[in-house]
Amino acid sequence: MSSDPHSYIGFEEYSDHIPASIPAAVQQATSRFVGGRTARVAELPQWEQLRQIGSDIRLHTIQHMDVYLTRFEEKVQAAGGIVHWASTAEDARQIVLQIAKDHDVKLAVKSKSMATEEIDLNHALENAGIEALETDLGEYIIQLAGTGPSHIIVPAVHLKKEEIAALFSEKLGINAPPDPIELTRIARETLRGKFLSAEMGISGANFLIAETGTIVMVTNEGNGRMCTTMPDLHVAVVGIDKVIPDWESLTIFLKLLARSATGQKLSTYTQFITGPRHTDGEFGPKEFHIVLLDNGRSNILKDPIGREVLKCIRCGACANVCPVYKNVGGFAYGWFISGPIGAIFAPQMLGTQAARELPYASTLCGACAEVCPVKIPIPTILRHLRRRVAQGDEFAEPVMPVAFSAIAGLAALALAQNWMYRFGTRLLPFFMRIFNRDGWIPSAPYPLSRWTKARPLPAFTAGFRKWWKMRSVAGKDSHQ
Ligand code: SF4
Repeated sequence: MSSDPHSYIGFEEYSDHIPASIPAAVQQATSRFVGGRTARVAELPQWEQLRQIGSDIRLHTIQHMDVYLTRFEEKVQAAGGIVHWASTAEDARQIVLQIAKDHDVKLAVKSKSMATEEIDLNHALENAGIEALETDLGEYIIQLAGTGPSHIIVPAVHLKKEEIAALFSEKLGINAPPDPIELTRIARETLRGKFLSAEMGISGANFLIAETGTIVMVTNEGNGRMCTTMPDLHVAVVGIDKVIPDWESLTIFLKLLARSATGQKLSTYTQFITGPRHTDGEFGPKEFHIVLLDNGRSNILKDPIGREVLKCIRCGACANVCPVYKNVGGFAYGWFISGPIGAIFAPQMLGTQAARELPYASTLCGACAEVCPVKIPIPTILRHLRRRVAQGDEFAEPVMPVAFSAIAGLAALALAQNWMYRFGTRLLPFFMRIFNRDGWIPSAPYPLSRWTKARPLPAFTAGFRKWWKMRSVAGKDSHQ
């Protein structure tokens, strides 16, 4: 994989690095989450009403983002915090680097933050000679592995405990056993001293409450609290889409988020931060900065269909039920956010031509929309984005390889003419015979090689029409 997890790398580059164990590990974890979610949702008879209210609040907020962000900024400043606005990922990186430089930071401890993945902050800090240490267990593991996250809420979901133990042994120079409790203990011991010596804590946030200028962090590990309270300096990097109007709205999202994400009633820690500490007797950092990241979100707002993506509360439920995600894992999406939400977010943020494969990475089965706690119509947006890919948009003209256009044209012709279809279905198996290995095609010529680089194709057979006829007859027989 690319060492730069925020950029879109595309399927071909990914397929050269596909680890064999991904689907098994992912299917195991996602099935557990789906089971937990189903049980927790069944306990709440008003679940559908909550989803609707959550959806309405998010839509209202993104449509009036300017009002709520201005209110949020005023309240943060009134509480003694410093607000920075970042139009681009580069702006955000420079802002954080400048703050670090002003405070002579050598070590920064980080809690889990998709916004800092988005701006690839760790590399920027490292290049400036600042150690940036991930302290969420999953993030710590993938930092050791040198990859990006493969799931929104469980970044190392693709790794089995044996693989994590081998990674710890190799990177930490110890003999780590494949025992989750022991591995957690090792990580905790390694990280504990770092919390005490770090000059800066970096976090994201799940929500920004405009009413009081409060940031809300929802976590299951204590590391978020340590990062945001132990160093004297706390910098939060947060997408502008995270703003919500008030505390009453928050009660709705807290009910929706943990149930959808991990199948919990409530996450273990829900932390509220309003500015820095005000007196020396208080707990918390002396200085609090928040970087409000746009990075293309304002552009997304212009598209009345696509902008619903900004309602997302990053629960990961859509990935957990997605048959595509469960079979290919998160890296196949080539971006730091994977699954159905990544498939509708990346093309809008990076440009539909840059991430043109992603709207097609779906069967359009609709399972994602059924579980989404804020009712994002993911299949509708996918179809809308496919149209934008094919017809071009404000970012770029449509790009379709000549070979694809030629094949699509031939297929359209063949499907319209019965004789041509019959001829083609006889010719193709004959031609592909040379690639057939025991009923499978492990390596096909371009453009089918884009598929066979990752997995073999079943061999083409000439018997489809015959099979279809027999099937129809058998069907009739069975109904008689
Ligand atoms: S799109 Fe919906 S289900 Fe998917 S991560 Fe966002 S809120 Fe969760």
